[in-house]
Amino acid sequence: TTSPAANIGVVGLAVMGSNLARNLASREGNTVAVYNRSRSKTDELVAEHPEAEFVPAFSYEEFAASLQKPRTAIIMVKAGGPTDAVIDSLMDVFEPGDIIIDGGNSLFTDTIRREKAVRERGFNFVGMGVSGGEEGALLGPSLMPGGPDEAWVTLGPILRSIAAVAEGEPCVTHVGHDGAGHFVKMVHNGIEYADMQLIAEAYDLIRRGTGKSPAEIADVFAEWNRGELESYLIEITAEVLRQTDAATGQPLVDVVVDEAGAKGTGAWTVQTALDLGVPVSGIAEATFARSLSSHREQRDVSGGLPGPAEDAFTVADADAFIEQVRLALYASKIVAYSQGFDEIRAGAAQYGWTIDLGAISRIWRGGCIIRAQFLNRIADAYAAEPELPVLLTAPYFVEALGRAQDAWRDIVATAAAAGIPSPAFSSSLAYYDGLRARRLPAALIQGQRDFFGAHTYKRIDKPGTFHTLWSADR
Ligand code: NAP
Repeated sequence: TTSPAANIGVVGLAVMGSNLARNLASREGNTVAVYNRSRSKTDELVAEHPEAEFVPAFSYEEFAASLQKPRTAIIMVKAGGPTDAVIDSLMDVFEPGDIIIDGGNSLFTDTIRREKAVRERGFNFVGMGVSGGEEGALLGPSLMPGGPDEAWVTLGPILRSIAAVAEGEPCVTHVGHDGAGHFVKMVHNGIEYADMQLIAEAYDLIRRGTGKSPAEIADVFAEWNRGELESYLIEITAEVLRQTDAATGQPLVDVVVDEAGAKGTGAWTVQTALDLGVPVSGIAEATFARSLSSHREQRDVSGGLPGPAEDAFTVADADAFIEQVRLALYASKIVAYSQGFDEIRAGAAQYGWTIDLGAISRIWRGGCIIRAQFLNRIADAYAAEPELPVLLTAPYFVEALGRAQDAWRDIVATAAAAGIPSPAFSSSLAYYDGLRARRLPAALIQGQRDFFGAHTYKRIDKPGTFHTLWSADR
């Protein structure tokens, strides 16, 4: 008998799995076993990429036999039931000590459940967030593995070799135990929703305020991409706006139906934040803005609601306005990231993970959709103060918010007056002012709660819990 050829395997050879397999195969020292439920995908991949020297398997038994021990296999199939099915099949043919990695977009609570079940049978299970889409999978993704320390010893060097590299550092870290990796990937996606919505609001304000064409606004974004907003999302926004529709000659953005889709990870981030009691208002507004956009039947009957005319808004000084929008975008973005990191902190506390927030900001600097210069500032903030309670109170951000806040307020006020929806800009500002406020009207809410439900309240001048006999005092 010959010894097994492969040191790592991939199950699920749709776009993500096949690209990840090719990425693995391209690294020195790796031999990659590949398996897919339907044979055709395996045959295609092997035929199209002879240079990868894949070891194809056509059954789970063959797949297990082709892997060196401890066997290490990355699953890249549809999240949910299919992932459970593949895990069960692997456990039938693997041996205790082998490592099963789920690289799909699984909900972190599923990962916690699976880790427990798989560990009880003696295997190692790693839920791993993979970001960067198909290009990232092929050329270098940002990787967010959770799971046990034992698995990380074997897995670390392999993952470091395939991850994106940002400023000399591979974009991968052992995030924490069980579901920590998928939790962090979920919040990454939530932040991505907020970032995209903020960019879309900036575009809308500029277009309606200055009358510039999409191609002209593309130049604005390209310019922004040379400054503190430099990021993948700003860069691709310029490209999207510059695109012309081949069929009509119109800017492509004008022929695309204005209903934003979603695969659910933004909603997960918001649902989880509600459970944890973390106000991720920017992410929530971004998620709701997508749902509002896709309620065509409601939008169709609401176009006649009273309000400023759509074309009534023009600004006198386009350049000055654009700079104000840029500052509002930057300030709102600081809020969105601060809220996202808050959610990670709260999740870590709730689920008992030790998560290095600075390391998370560093692994997001390359490979993933939210990669940005800006993440270096977050890394600096946590390096200076690892237990920073609110990210936006780090000195660098305080300075940036100080620079931006007048413009931010002007833009939110202008948008409201002009009837231009800016839910992410305005909710970010409201959150910021909520944090700043020395006193909040929450005191009144406590009074109302005590009035109708005897929920009690605390006093500012003495300890204890109090209840007022409201009707008797009136
Ligand atoms: P996908 O469309 O989500 O899934 C297709 C793959 O799942 C195929 O290989 C399919 O096998 C397999 N599959 C489905 N049901 C199965 C079952 N019951 N048993 C065994 N295999 C089954 O593929 P994808 O877009 O490449 O994504 C893979 C995973 O990565 C997903 O969890 C996705 O959420 C995640 N992800 C995707 C992206 C992205 O940009 N696309 C980014 C990050 C993460 P057959 O060929 O036999 O049907």
